[in-house]
Amino acid sequence: MKQINIPYRDYIGDYGSVVVRMHNKNKWGEDNQIKILLSGLQDDVAERYDIYKSIFNSEDIVGALGGGYDDDCKKALQSMYIGDSARVGEIKQHIRDIQEEDWKDLCPYCGINCFSGYDHYLPKGEFPEYSILAINLIHCCSTCNTKKLEYWKDDLDRGIVNPYLDDLSDVEYLLCGVNCNNGIPVVEFSLESTGNDVFDSLLIKHFARFDLLARYKDRSNSEISTIRDDIESYSGTLDLESLRTVLQDRYQREVLRFGRSFWKCALRKALYLSDDYLRMLVRTEA
Ligand SMILES: [Zn+2]
Repeated sequence: MKQINIPYRDYIGDYGSVVVRMHNKNKWGEDNQIKILLSGLQDDVAERYDIYKSIFNSEDIVGALGGGYDDDCKKALQSMYIGDSARVGEIKQHIRDIQEEDWKDLCPYCGINCFSGYDHYLPKGEFPEYSILAINLIHCCSTCNTKKLEYWKDDLDRGIVNPYLDDLSDVEYLLCGVNCNNGIPVVEFSLESTGNDVFDSLLIKHFARFDLLARYKDRSNSEISTIRDDIESYSGTLDLESLRTVLQDRYQREVLRFGRSFWKCALRKALYLSDDYLRMLVRTEA
């Protein structure tokens, strides 16, 4: 996983803008009580945004305490996101626009699927005040969003990697092994200790929640086919060690773009290190 770029916005300005653009009257011509409620909450929310920013900057987000609102306030705050106003659309667009090209559409929780929506890192059920706060929104795929739900920590420890905060791109914690049986490479992914207990615990929970080891294995066949198609242009012209060099070169380029423990990088590394796999390629391509 690679750290993604942090949204930079006037956060409370976003809040104020969504409220200002709400209708003053409801469809029955009565005062819009939700707008009145949200206007009254703006100073309180501004303080909570400052708290979020301070714990976010110190990477101490696990200490976040939210809520304390009655049901009406909670629903009103959550409706700001659900209402999906033009300003919320701008926030969502900004979150993707600031990402590197490779990560604009890719889910940072799994690195497998394209994004299809936004996850509230601190769930909007427990933290309705952060429902439209840009730094609390992660563009992610529907599979991860469905698996994460309201989960983000166990007791005092976080259970989900925060792609804005956790820089793990140079850490090799995802390993892949390959066995070639009857001409078919079969892979297994596993987690390796990072040497840091906090990260190890976080990664184990993150991988379990999103079922990542199994999902990577499921996706490996199509990725191996892609790698094979790429290598086909060298058909019959390279020996085993030259093929290894080509694959290793591709791997290193992918590492720069996606990070050392991106699942496709772990897979590529396993393949170029496997003599059985390379022998199989040389034999097939000859
Ligand atoms: Zn995902």
